Amino acid sequence: MQTSIPLSIPNPAGNERAYVNECLENNWIASVGPFIGRLEDQLSRLYANGGKPVHAVAVSSGSAALHLALIAAGVRPGDEVVVPALTFMATVAAARYCGAFPVVVDIEAEHWQISAASLERFFEERCTVDGEGARNRRTGRRVAAILPVHLLGHACDIDAVIAIADRFKVAVVEDAAEAVGTLYKGRQVGADGAAGCFSFNGNKIVTGGAGGAVVTTDAELAARVRYLANQAKDDPIGYVHHELGYNYRLPALNAAFAVGQMELLPVFVDRKQKIAARYRKGLADVPGIGFMREANWTTSTWWLFTVLIDPERFGRDRVEVFEALRAQGIETRPLWQPMHQSPTLGFAECMEIRVANDIHRRALSLPCSTQMTDDEVDRVIDAVKELSNPNGGKAIF
Ligand SMILES: *Cc1c(COP(=O)(O)O)cnc(C)c1O
Repeated sequence: MQTSIPLSIPNPAGNERAYVNECLENNWIASVGPFIGRLEDQLSRLYANGGKPVHAVAVSSGSAALHLALIAAGVRPGDEVVVPALTFMATVAAARYCGAFPVVVDIEAEHWQISAASLERFFEERCTVDGEGARNRRTGRRVAAILPVHLLGHACDIDAVIAIADRFKVAVVEDAAEAVGTLYKGRQVGADGAAGCFSFNGNKIVTGGAGGAVVTTDAELAARVRYLANQAKDDPIGYVHHELGYNYRLPALNAAFAVGQMELLPVFVDRKQKIAARYRKGLADVPGIGFMREANWTTSTWWLFTVLIDPERFGRDRVEVFEALRAQGIETRPLWQPMHQSPTLGFAECMEIRVANDIHRRALSLPCSTQMTDDEVDRVIDAVKELSNPNGGKAIF
């Protein structure tokens, strides 16, 4: 019986255990102890590569980071927030937590990132701009922020997004949950907008078991995120609160694990990139298998290596491949249902979405945990090739 190959699991290969033990020995279980500060220092050092000092605030999840960053960037109930159609639901949920309504724009076909063209069209065709910023003409609501996503370890063209945001006077909060370690024009991506949000969820490139962080060059914004994450406590002795906060603090145990993982980031990025390169080479000639192209502005970590399966040319669709691989102990996963198709999300407005639907219909993420061996990658490649059935049509199952 061959061992199973999971999609993307934690790899505690460094000091994680030692650091967690240090917490246990010193009773640093909750919010006391050095590891939260150490994680924040690692992040502010990593993201300060543009020369500007960067503030990092550790929080309990990437979702919490997005929620607080949007509030701190000025998103208020009844506003609108622009999001790409293809992302994990946490992106859009964060806007809804603020009482804001998402506006969904399409992604571009080559790199699957937010489409600057679709974004620009929304502002040009559907908004008016005055001293206060942009307003959606149809709904009358203020468009407060753009929430671009750096998808699957690849950077979106954040300079283009920020140029549009500046022109129409809206804030940019980056969802960089999947992009720890990703480069944009040679620098770490995520610290260019008003705030960048990261996730240390279990399947992310660096994990704390759970966790997240907000990174920003704006000291006031960082202080506000820290304040809101700690129940907006104004007087720690008298428990005085002047506004509604949240319990979004990161426990020290999770921080300790994440500190150990952050030390390994260069190793993890290198391994993810090598796994991706091996898949590309191994699957290059399989009819009906396509890949995301790496844009010239980024060095992708290939956090979750994802292929496109053309059912006509490959001979099976992505769900059939998912099931056949699962039967062999190989875990794969389709991408998320595009956001505009989810009725629970209550979107305000939706541009024409073509590319996101098409990518979603064909995409399948392949196993790419950093501890995966070359032999295991080859086993997945061989299994995919075996399933290729170019002349068999779709009537095989
Ligand atoms: C993982 C993820 C999040 C949320 O992070 P959590 O830590 O799981 O809350 C947000 N956005 C995207 C794009 C993600 O992939």
